[in-house]
Amino acid sequence: MSAGDGAPVIEARDVVKRYVTEAETILALDGVSLAVEPGEFVAIMGPSGSGKSTLLNVLGLLDEPTEGAVYLDGEDTSTLTERERTSARKRTIGFIFQNFYLIPTLTAKENVEVPRLLDQDPETPARAAELLAKVGLGDRLDHTPGELSGGQKQRVAIARSLVNDPRVLLADEPTGNLDRQTGRDVLEQFEEIRTEGVAVIAVTHDAQVADYADRTITLVDGRVSADEPRVATTPTGSLGASGGAGSPEASGSSDAGEPGGTTGPSDDAGEEDDTSHGG
Ligand code: ADP
Ligand code: MG
Repeated sequence: MSAGDGAPVIEARDVVKRYVTEAETILALDGVSLAVEPGEFVAIMGPSGSGKSTLLNVLGLLDEPTEGAVYLDGEDTSTLTERERTSARKRTIGFIFQNFYLIPTLTAKENVEVPRLLDQDPETPARAAELLAKVGLGDRLDHTPGELSGGQKQRVAIARSLVNDPRVLLADEPTGNLDRQTGRDVLEQFEEIRTEGVAVIAVTHDAQVADYADRTITLVDGRVSADEPRVATTPTGSLGASGGAGSPEASGSSDAGEPGGTTGPSDDAGEEDDTSHGG
């Protein structure tokens, strides 16, 4: 299960998502195709309202495309029953959100156990403790979220996302509520996770995330406007391993500046209630 063996673990093919409301129909995704291999780290950027969260929800089988399909290991998930889809999601996908969504009354360890509670697996507490140790919180197992810093909470959320051994980690603004250094710590965690063959797909406004990602996909008005490999400057990655279609030197120039978040109006997710896109 190494990066670059050519078989995507997750794939969107011609995904269209329309939201139909009384007032209007919003075209949130307008024919998005992308494929991500095991161990790849992909950043998804783009202005507010461009469809990033919708894409993540569709990739994570939380929401169904209006047209097109999501494939897991080459299997078309649109043919699955609801129950099969839930099972595929649980087997394959881990989620991390900007606001952590930890349960405040549970300890760090109990929070990590939550996705496995229904399984009644006696190994789960040990597994949770092991994952917390792995993200550097081995000495915080019994702290509640209120007793943890933002970065620590996000690391608990990362540990929780890994408890079912996912093959794909989906993160929506994972560094959005963190200061720069803490954000970097979280990115270092992703870096380690992907060396174990887990694909990481992170929606972000944070240019720092793109420094770690193998590729940055830019969405504008529900379409992929750019899909570019990282320019090979950072010493962190093992660039030789990932290969992929494009060569690093061939890109990273022209399109990069314009569609991304740099000139965009908003730095944060969600607040802006701009429904005027997609027409
Ligand atoms: P982003 O995450 O890039 O900010 P979203 O995926 O949240 O963008 O939204 C894309 C578009 O779809 C926006 O115009 C948004 O208002 C609209 N949208 C998102 N979710 C819904 C929904 N549940 N119902 C109606 N419109 C929605
Ligand atoms: Mg969003």
